[in-house]
Amino acid sequence: MPAIMSVDEIRELQRRVRDLKKKKDAYIIAHNYQLPEIQDVADYVGDSLGMAMEAKKTDHPLVVVCGVHFMAETAAILLPDRKVITPERYAGCSLAESITPEQLKEWKAQHPDAVVVSYVNTTAEVKALSDYTVTSSNAVDIIRSIPEDREILFLPDMFLGMYVKEVTGRKNMHIWPGECHVHARVTPQDISRAAVEHPGATMLVHPECGCSTNCLYLKAKGELDVDIKVFSTGGMVRYVKEHPDREYVVATEVGILYRLSKEIGDGSDRLKPLREDMVCEYMKMITVDKLVRSLEEEIYEVKVPPHVAERARVPIERMLQLSSKGR
Ligand code: SF4
Repeated sequence: MPAIMSVDEIRELQRRVRDLKKKKDAYIIAHNYQLPEIQDVADYVGDSLGMAMEAKKTDHPLVVVCGVHFMAETAAILLPDRKVITPERYAGCSLAESITPEQLKEWKAQHPDAVVVSYVNTTAEVKALSDYTVTSSNAVDIIRSIPEDREILFLPDMFLGMYVKEVTGRKNMHIWPGECHVHARVTPQDISRAAVEHPGATMLVHPECGCSTNCLYLKAKGELDVDIKVFSTGGMVRYVKEHPDREYVVATEVGILYRLSKEIGDGSDRLKPLREDMVCEYMKMITVDKLVRSLEEEIYEVKVPPHVAERARVPIERMLQLSSKGR
């Protein structure tokens, strides 16, 4: 168990991060679920799509990705001529690990004419076997753009898949039964309880949550009297920025609350987590002392074999191209 650091110790480590960043001409990209002290020293904080877009734009020789492993892999694929490092090489993702390349090959063999649509939370090898990579903010549009008569294999998140299927009305879409252990905890009962405890609040729900499809269904039937918005984490940030005076209950990993509170200014007491236990231990493996060491020693470098990177780059670039229009 890591030792608890005092505020002064954290500030000192943050100062060292800023110095090293300057000295090494490094650029730090962090996910919205990262610890506050990491978000505060990052050059960019966003969702996985935003991180990929930002990685592509940067011209720094050293890029540090503070997020889980597939995020660093995506940056490494997009920046083959740059050094991409991550402070914690064992920061995995239960969702990305819910399908292996072998399982996908077998699934594809059962549906040889299907279009393979993979969520961005997948390994580079799985992306290399996919036609499209999507995020929660563009999955609906990309599914709609695929001709009606083509079968679709959607992976690995079943909740996002069910949500997209419900919204698009797509019949010939097969969904892989994968899930993220953090988002799978959320139930429609959590939403009903929060609606009673926080009347008038807007619920911000991530489509990876176990309740998202149920919520939409119950709302459409008029059985859920609550203002629900289903958004990617990037969408949540944009929405809160545009509507800073409201009260919110947020159904995704709790790290986003710090990010949202920065948008809302002094109104952070109007932001409540739907469940306090929505904590991704993989995201929290990255600490500011590990970030200092990572910058000092330029570890851990993330490398994707060139033949995998070449194939995985195609669906990732397709995702970036489609997303740049709607963002
Ligand atoms: S919250 Fe879930 S999907 Fe996101 S990184 Fe953690 S395990 Fe993966």
